Amino acid sequence: MAIIVQKYGGSSVADTEKIKKVAEKVVNTHRKGNKVVVVVSAMGKTTDNLISLARQIHPSPPTREMDLLLSTGELVSVALLCMAIEKLGYEAEGLPGFFAGIRTDDAHTKARIKTVDTRRIIEELKKGKIVVVAGFQGLSPQENITTLGRGGSDLTAIAIAGALKAEICEIYTDVPGVFTTDPNLVPEAKIIPVISYKEMLEMASAGAKVMQSRAVEFAQKYHIPCVVKSTCQENGGTMVTEVDFKEGAIVSSVTLDDKQAKITFFNVPDKPGIAAKIFGALGDANINVDVIVQNVSTSGYTDLSFTVNITDMEKAYEISRKLGQELKCKDVTADNDIAKITVIGLGMMNHPGVAARMFKALADAGVNIEMISTSEIKISCIIRKGEGHKALKAVHQEFIR
Ligand code: ASP
Ligand code: MG
Repeated sequence: MAIIVQKYGGSSVADTEKIKKVAEKVVNTHRKGNKVVVVVSAMGKTTDNLISLARQIHPSPPTREMDLLLSTGELVSVALLCMAIEKLGYEAEGLPGFFAGIRTDDAHTKARIKTVDTRRIIEELKKGKIVVVAGFQGLSPQENITTLGRGGSDLTAIAIAGALKAEICEIYTDVPGVFTTDPNLVPEAKIIPVISYKEMLEMASAGAKVMQSRAVEFAQKYHIPCVVKSTCQENGGTMVTEVDFKEGAIVSSVTLDDKQAKITFFNVPDKPGIAAKIFGALGDANINVDVIVQNVSTSGYTDLSFTVNITDMEKAYEISRKLGQELKCKDVTADNDIAKITVIGLGMMNHPGVAARMFKALADAGVNIEMISTSEIKISCIIRKGEGHKALKAVHQEFIR
């Protein structure tokens, strides 16, 4: 008998009517003869609200208690969904993360799953019950409740699917699948029927909010097939799986990230050890650097720019300004009026000319490129923020028809 893991996000359980709908879906899957494990997120904006409550009391709340607080959101969803399933005449067993055997490290608010002990889940499934597990939470070695980072219910679902060797992990959300770009910005966006783990990971880091990137990483590592689909539709969705690069689209998606900032060092000495020093200091401060560009040096000096997440801009700028003085740079500037446009596609690996097409599309739209970075399956350009929408439309039209 096949085991199916279904994950319902916060928007799918936002109110009691929606919870009743989810119960019907779950029961239907169960009645088809499947063993069903359901993972749920907190209702609607519950997690945001809990975070805001904590901040009203303490500017940086103790993380152990923060996890205690945040874990309650998912428990509410579990309890209500079980009641809704029972109301339909079926037996459900609701389990907090720790009863479901989710063991994590002790990095509170961003814990990593170490092991999943499936004994309890299997026991309940054997009794013919539908098992409902609280997403986003686990138990640390010190037996404290931990949470898995924002969007962590995806990870719970994938990890349980992996441990149970489930047939599939279905990720239910409020959109009908993964789109070629944000349909709110570009109405021509289409659903991607099949996408590789690799592309999903690039999409997550390029700013698309589809699945938690740790969850995609986990799915890739253990070859767990998953499908992202809408709670309101029976069919369709996007299958996330292993894809041979020869079968991949040249460009499967285009993303726009306007939550970036650029730091520039003007006239840094062009000699060994300078970049190591700058990026070492940023790394020590836990700041992720994205696109890096260094100019050709003239008379022993060069300009160096890099981008960081906008939330890290102040911190990065402060560190950079100090280093700039130390290195006797002419100036150090911070600029948050930028956006990053990225094209992603597995097929890029064996098709030359994608970069040229992207640059031409931007040029034809009158968009200036300030920085470029590439990997095997993606090309990113930094542009002015105000031109983001126009750029996204032009590049999407060039590659996706
Ligand atoms: N409720 C948590 C969050 O909002 C986990 C999740 O939704 O996956 O981040
Ligand atoms: Mg959520």
